[in-house]
Amino acid sequence: MKRQHRTKIVATLGPASSSAETIEALFRAGSDVFRLNFSHGSHNDHRLRYDIIRDLEQRLGRPIAILMDLQGPKLRVGTFAKGPIDLAPGHGFRLDLDPAAGDGGRVTLPHEEIFAALKAGTELLLDDGKIRLRVRRCGKDFAETTVVTGGPLSDRKGVNVPGVVLPLSPLTPKDRADLAFGLDIGVDWVALSFVQRPEDIAEARRLIGGRAGVLAKLEKPAAMDSLEQIIALSDAVMVARGDLGVEMPPEDVPVLQKRIVRASRKAGRPVIVATQMLESMIKAPTPTRAEASDVATAVYDGADAVMLSAETASGDYPVEAVSIMNRIIERVEKDPLYWKIAEAERVEPEATSADAIGAAARQTAHTLSAKAIVTYTTSGSTSLRIARERPDVPILGLTPNLATSRRLPLIWGVHSVYTEDARNFPDMEDKAIAAVLGDGFAVDGDRIVITAGVPFGTPGATNIMRIARVRKA
Ligand code: PGA
Ligand code: MN
Repeated sequence: MKRQHRTKIVATLGPASSSAETIEALFRAGSDVFRLNFSHGSHNDHRLRYDIIRDLEQRLGRPIAILMDLQGPKLRVGTFAKGPIDLAPGHGFRLDLDPAAGDGGRVTLPHEEIFAALKAGTELLLDDGKIRLRVRRCGKDFAETTVVTGGPLSDRKGVNVPGVVLPLSPLTPKDRADLAFGLDIGVDWVALSFVQRPEDIAEARRLIGGRAGVLAKLEKPAAMDSLEQIIALSDAVMVARGDLGVEMPPEDVPVLQKRIVRASRKAGRPVIVATQMLESMIKAPTPTRAEASDVATAVYDGADAVMLSAETASGDYPVEAVSIMNRIIERVEKDPLYWKIAEAERVEPEATSADAIGAAARQTAHTLSAKAIVTYTTSGSTSLRIARERPDVPILGLTPNLATSRRLPLIWGVHSVYTEDARNFPDMEDKAIAAVLGDGFAVDGDRIVITAGVPFGTPGATNIMRIARVRKA
């Protein structure tokens, strides 16, 4: 199965997309990565979805990436004794550690660490930023606030504290339990929510121990202060515009999106642009013009992947949302301007043999109108570095490592193939040719460019490039 699109699609699974039929339809419509969102659903729900994806992978013979998204330290208020309350501007409202049900004057905020980080003047945003409170006075177990922007407030609504680096690990006890479960079933990528500091990634890396790729969700203003370090420590990143747009003014979000995508491209880390991309399709079979334009912008920006959340997890048109996203991506990638931008934004190869070979492979494939670049890779790093070059031909990532084959689908332009390693030069050509013929990337007589590392069979740096002629066996 050959995809036309280079920019990948991540689809979140949920109640609207948990049957084997729907998951297969989402995959066929263009979804390369499935996201299991651990903010919702039970372990059993996620296990069932996981098994369906692996079964599909087996039947279609195509590696599929599974991304587990940890909820992270999402702060929430407690519950109210008599249902939703109404907060009026100018009035006082108290947050405290008292577990008693709330009323019009107070509610529980069951996060001890937070109170210590608050000061008079700190602003708290509730319910996705709809309500704004300003701290007047606070102590180690309470905060008295004034309502700046009022409105209704109901049970367990989220709380954001934008201006402050909170003394919180990005992994709560729930996250640790979820992570152990996810690694046990065998997820390929783990997304960390509300990353604030480089140390947050280091801590997660220790726990994950190489069993999955580590993806940092950038949704806290504090993370922007050490963006380059966070990206360098991560295997991939996400522009998590949902929470980012609560914590920052809306006009900052597109600017940060461009900054994060560029910084990730420079570092050679896959970057996902996420949230509200086709939001109106939760309820409608077609997107708005603005949404189509938003997806297109992320593609022109050079993102590796674009993501759907509620559109596929709980919306009325999950398959349509993926189909339309796929059409928008394919359309943009047919625009010569897309390739001109990629050319203009190309990042310098670093002084490594893998980058030197990658740059040469891109140029050679372009000069010879080759049909594909076939990369042999163990860890996936060679395919990733060549993707960083944004070649105008498909990249095939051939790997004998099952885990690598399942991480590669997230990466721009990479068609993942799980196969045995090459034993010698003729075998290297034979396997590369079989892969391009088998998946429809080339026909008899076409040329392809192959990269590999010799001696064969020993994982190590890519150090050779070969031009081969496709011939039917
Ligand atoms: P979420 O993350 O959907 O898990 O909140 C994405 C975002 O905040 O944009
Ligand atoms: Mn978020």
